[in-house]
Amino acid sequence: MSDRECIFCAIIEGHAPAEVVFEDGDTLAFMDINPANPGHTLVIPKRHIQDIYGMDEDTAAAVIGTVVRVAGAIKRALQPEGMNLVQSNERAGGQDVFHFHMHIIPRWYGDGLRLARPPEVRRTMPIKEAAARIRREVAKVRTIAAAYTDICCGKK
Ligand code: 5GP
Ligand code: ZN
Repeated sequence: MSDRECIFCAIIEGHAPAEVVFEDGDTLAFMDINPANPGHTLVIPKRHIQDIYGMDEDTAAAVIGTVVRVAGAIKRALQPEGMNLVQSNERAGGQDVFHFHMHIIPRWYGDGLRLARPPEVRRTMPIKEAAARIRREVAKVRTIAAAYTDICCGKK
């Protein structure tokens, strides 16, 4: 299932160019067009899934499997000193392309790259309280799909 407006679906279908580094039945890995560092790669599911809330477990497993494989290849190919996995959801989370993707970003000492973070750590909620709230919800949620259903339908 693809989305005609989606640039990543266009890449999957071969209608837009990309530097593909790996492909299997469910996933595609290709170079980010505007790399944060050399080797910056994106891994996407071939099915158009907008964000983490639409993700199913099988697709998630396929995506992370490709992330592990490609991260290993980048480590061997470019010998980075570190590696970040980044995944953004919704505009407020910094998502710009609304087809689920994981960034694999190689890191080197002194590369100057900073993941966005406010200058002071803001704690508008005590850590323990946030943990307690999340634990209550995680106990109710057996699958990722169930988590999505609960969000979309407002169930408790
Ligand atoms: P986001 O901000 O949604 O987490 O990341 C979107 C990423 O997609 C950005 O890093 C951006 O450079 C990359 N990107 C956007 N359009 C294209 C494209 O047409 N081709 C490729 N290869 N990368 C793209
Ligand atoms: Zn898409």
